[in-house]
Amino acid sequence: MTAQLIDGVALARQWRARVAERAAALAARGHRPGLAVILVGDDPASQVYVRNKVKACGEAGIHSVLETYPASLTQDELLARIAALNADPTIHGILVQLPLPPHIDAQRVIEAIAPAKDVDGFHVANAGALLVGQRGYWPCTPYGCMKMLEHIGIELRGKHAVVIGRSNIVGKPMALLLLQANATVTICHSATANLAHHTRQADVIVAAVGRPRMLTADMVKPGAVVLDVGINRLPDGKLCGDVDFDAVREVAGWITPVPGGVGPMTIAMLLLNTVEAAERAAG
Ligand code: NAP
Repeated sequence: MTAQLIDGVALARQWRARVAERAAALAARGHRPGLAVILVGDDPASQVYVRNKVKACGEAGIHSVLETYPASLTQDELLARIAALNADPTIHGILVQLPLPPHIDAQRVIEAIAPAKDVDGFHVANAGALLVGQRGYWPCTPYGCMKMLEHIGIELRGKHAVVIGRSNIVGKPMALLLLQANATVTICHSATANLAHHTRQADVIVAAVGRPRMLTADMVKPGAVVLDVGINRLPDGKLCGDVDFDAVREVAGWITPVPGGVGPMTIAMLLLNTVEAAERAAG
């Protein structure tokens, strides 16, 4: 079997077009959506991510403000900027690009963002809303994965989903969203004994680890849906995911590529959360 490809670029384009329509409708009523993006330090990967987010905002008709600060910025200075953005009515979403320099407590910074403007969905209020099944802002990467599953038309009820990784920004919210969709969910992590035993039973696998090509073909049940969240840079400079794509695509039913899979959907969901935040603010 050769898996069908889930084209994240094409699907993200559709979502961005829908967001652009909603942003235009808001702007026509005098409520142009606004996103503030804060970058502290000069991490090259973060610079690329931030640039892509700002560019995507422009294309969707979302006003964006990029604030860049040197790594020497103090935590108090950053908290003061967030307080100002919380109070700014032209800004509906605030995104602080992670990672932050080690002298800044990232969780403290995230908690300073008003939950209504936390379009990354990392604030405990939004994490808690997801846990109890209330509508808050969902973290963009798992949200994008759910849209991909919806797009291919898989019925998740009764399916076994295995999420590899338990971070607060990907693995845990991914598992909760799958649970909410009535899948039976197994969460694997670095202390999981016999990972392959779990993944081989999965109808859906989400790999969110950060280890190049760690999910090999022998770990995948024929016909399974495989979503590859990982972004890893190889010594030759190329990007690859957590999935051994060439081999796994011969076994899986559906698979996402890296690049061009989950990544573009993450940005599309950031735009979607931002336009939703602006709609709520506009009443
Ligand atoms: P993270 O915070 O480092 O979490 C990685 C998770 O993988 C941890 O829960 C860890 O377990 C688990 N893990 C590590 N080694 C393992 C192993 N051998 N077997 C099973 N589990 C193992 O990373 P993250 O922020 O969730 O990101 C994961 C990957 O996704 C990274 O490559 C990141 O760049 C990428 N990413 C992509 C997007 C996108 O838009 N495509 C967005 C966000 C992240 P422990 O908890 O036990 O340590």
